[in-house]
Amino acid sequence: MTSPEPTPDAKTDPPGSPAARAPGAADLVITGCTALVHDEREQIRFVEDATIVVRGGRIETITSDPADLLSAGPADAVHIDARGQVAMPGLVNCHTHTPMVTLRGIAEDLPLDEWFNDVVWPIESNLQERDIELGARLACAEMIRGGVTCFADHYFSMDTVAAVTAESGLRANLGQAFFSSQGAEGRERSLDFALRHRDTAGGRITTSLAPHAPYTVDDADLAATAGLAREHGLLVHLHAAENRDQTDASLARHGRTPVEILAGAGLLDTDLLIAHGTGIVERDLPVLARATGRIGVASAPRGYLKFAWPTTTPVRALRELGIPVGLATDGAASNNSLDVWESMALTALAQKFTEGDPRRLTSRQALHHATLQSARAVGLGERIGSLAPGRRADIVLVDLSGPHTQPVHDLAATLVHSARSGDVRTTIVDGRILMRDRELLTVDVPAVVREMNERMPALTDRAHGRRIQEYDT
Ligand SMILES: [Zn+2]
Repeated sequence: MTSPEPTPDAKTDPPGSPAARAPGAADLVITGCTALVHDEREQIRFVEDATIVVRGGRIETITSDPADLLSAGPADAVHIDARGQVAMPGLVNCHTHTPMVTLRGIAEDLPLDEWFNDVVWPIESNLQERDIELGARLACAEMIRGGVTCFADHYFSMDTVAAVTAESGLRANLGQAFFSSQGAEGRERSLDFALRHRDTAGGRITTSLAPHAPYTVDDADLAATAGLAREHGLLVHLHAAENRDQTDASLARHGRTPVEILAGAGLLDTDLLIAHGTGIVERDLPVLARATGRIGVASAPRGYLKFAWPTTTPVRALRELGIPVGLATDGAASNNSLDVWESMALTALAQKFTEGDPRRLTSRQALHHATLQSARAVGLGERIGSLAPGRRADIVLVDLSGPHTQPVHDLAATLVHSARSGDVRTTIVDGRILMRDRELLTVDVPAVVREMNERMPALTDRAHGRRIQEYDT
């Protein structure tokens, strides 16, 4: 194997930056696949019989012309024969809480206030570091199996999540969540985490400041967060305008919508990732249009349907403002899975349903959300989100030979509406194979599940009557 010497590329990662190094990444050649690429207008295209050459964790060449390959492929690279498979950018889970997989299915068929106050927040007061570690590890396994190569996580004990992320091989943007009820210490810990972990794990880990939401973090804390984000060049990741009730309650109490509160705090002039936004209303649109920061919104439609929220993320209005809408699952306690493939299909369906128009959110648009828009939403639009020379090699190979995906008349439609996360055969991050032919290579799932189940009685005990917060929109 040749040494994985990074190819300098000033457009993405400067040479010598942590992101330009990919220790242990195998040089890789994938042949015979159909590759999902973007043209210069960002339209989705498919390249037949493509060869993808990866060197130093980065895509070096992607071509269907053998003449391009005379000197491109290292002779001793790992070779994947991907005939019959589609190569596409790995999916990005733009908003999740990985350790919450431990609570998958524990608070079912409840409205949000009861979900938080009666079940989730009492149980979260029991969480130990080991629960966080096991949950994050199981979540990483689930995401690798489902073709997710990057996730944006927003939770507590994020040092532990960062260690698990590094070990799993996944890419992530991580933020230590805080409430104003923690005093200034919560915000300071969030900053300390973000500065200590940014660009670690060979550049795979980036970080954000993570206030919980405008209804649990006060205006002064939000404004201080915006100042820290500008000072340190950090993304801010938070929940806001999650649903229409929150917007109505905010208007009744403060005379301002959650988006107007973010604007007042200066957060729209920072790089900002807003989770959900189903409560974004008409009067918010000009406020968002005036934003000078890079704003992204993460949409996790399964939870909105499950909580019976009356609206979903206003994708069309946000797109008209040029705001990327990335795909997400939220935590598994509300979504029940970390299946971003399902989020892609549900986003397309929810938009058709709410717009009352079958032409809205075509399969190609859904794939654009799943790729470039998701990458931009988590602040990685220059590094990932497309298969192109110079991008990090975050690639999934999808097997379309199953009876539920044949025949293929329209490959984009097959991917969005017929294929499933279980059709992902191989998951690659930074040129390193994390799953090959459905076999996970970095996580021991049976060992995690065994220990997690032993710990469950202590974790789920609610007899103490404590909770970490009170939900009151
Ligand atoms: Zn969330």
